[in-house]
Amino acid sequence: MTAVVQLKPGREKSLRRRHPWVFSGAVARVSGTPNAGDTVTVAAADGTPLGLGAYSPHSQIRVRLWTFDPRETVDAAFLAGLVERAVVRRGAPGGDGPWARRLVHAENDGLPGLVVDRYGDQLVAQVLAAGPEKWKEELADALLAATGCAGLHERSDADVRIKEGLPVRAGHWRGREAPAEVEIVEGGVRYLVDVRQGHKTGFYLDQRAARARVAALAAGREVLNGFAYTGGFGLAALRGGAAHVTHLDASGPALALADRLGGQNGFDRARWATVEADAFARLRQWQQEGRSFDLVVLDPPKFVESRQHLPRGCRGYKDVNLQALKLLRPGGLLVTFSCSGLLEADLFQKIVADAALDAGRELQLLERLGQADDHPVLMSFPEGAYLKGLVCRAD
Ligand code: SAH
Repeated sequence: MTAVVQLKPGREKSLRRRHPWVFSGAVARVSGTPNAGDTVTVAAADGTPLGLGAYSPHSQIRVRLWTFDPRETVDAAFLAGLVERAVVRRGAPGGDGPWARRLVHAENDGLPGLVVDRYGDQLVAQVLAAGPEKWKEELADALLAATGCAGLHERSDADVRIKEGLPVRAGHWRGREAPAEVEIVEGGVRYLVDVRQGHKTGFYLDQRAARARVAALAAGREVLNGFAYTGGFGLAALRGGAAHVTHLDASGPALALADRLGGQNGFDRARWATVEADAFARLRQWQQEGRSFDLVVLDPPKFVESRQHLPRGCRGYKDVNLQALKLLRPGGLLVTFSCSGLLEADLFQKIVADAALDAGRELQLLERLGQADDHPVLMSFPEGAYLKGLVCRAD
């Protein structure tokens, strides 16, 4: 018998709409003494069972649903089925070299708290909640069986683990040890991914579609790649025929890799520069020096980490977009992103509109961008949509 988490009256509504989270405030009582990660039955106030989920005693998200069918059994075979489905959904992308895709996008693939990225034949997983933590080894078996990959590396070193009451952990997990750098090819560009030390699982796979758009827009343009990390957008722009790319980032090691990748892709060394600096300060300095660009990409880190950070985060987005607009030549393009899930797309668009007003520039929205299709959004889980981008033209 599983423990039962009974909801307060009315709090079953979101589950009936197949939203997979039970917040601590929705819980009336817990019968039994489930441990972290144990499977519990979630029941409405009238006792009707609604589904099975993983119990997480330390998290605000007290239960994450594995299934909305209370007759299921959550075991290794059940979870392997979900892993297999997620892998099959991605198909075999193929291409002109080792490819990379997100294979498991957590809640959006029915596996709350589990993220798995594939780089060539290397898997990299983030175990971010008590549920997948409990079934860790069974999930690893399933991932290796479903993909035939050579190795699995763990990057469960994200801050959300702390909210779950779980220790941060990173390192070799299964099979072949991850090489220091894993090579992938995306849009005809060779990238090297540092799966051990890089951000997240090593690379911003969510921007794959947007990098392709930037490549298509970059021909002949002088490009500023703001918040460049290891050069993603800028290398795509060089491949697309950009006249020149300036990668701007605060991280020296990330820029060193961007430099190496430029060379390894055979681009003429005169076509790019890297600048290690704080973007907010450097964009202002460049205004004073009269510098300008034809295309500016802004892909900053998440400025809104929690609801209470929303006002400050909005000010950050406003400022960086304002400063970038001041550097755009007439007819120039601004490709600007927010990866803050708590900042809704409409509000982000208003912020960019405000920045244009303050900059005294007329701005046209040409296109909206979002996370690549290997980062699907489960329609009953709008939180799955976090990345939004705008392609704008300034007068
Ligand atoms: N566009 C990249 C991902 C960017 S991640 C890609 O497609 O791969 C965000 C980057 O912003 C990180 O590399 C981080 O080092 C950088 N960063 C964070 N704060 C910064 C600041 N104030 N100034 C410049 N760079 C910053």
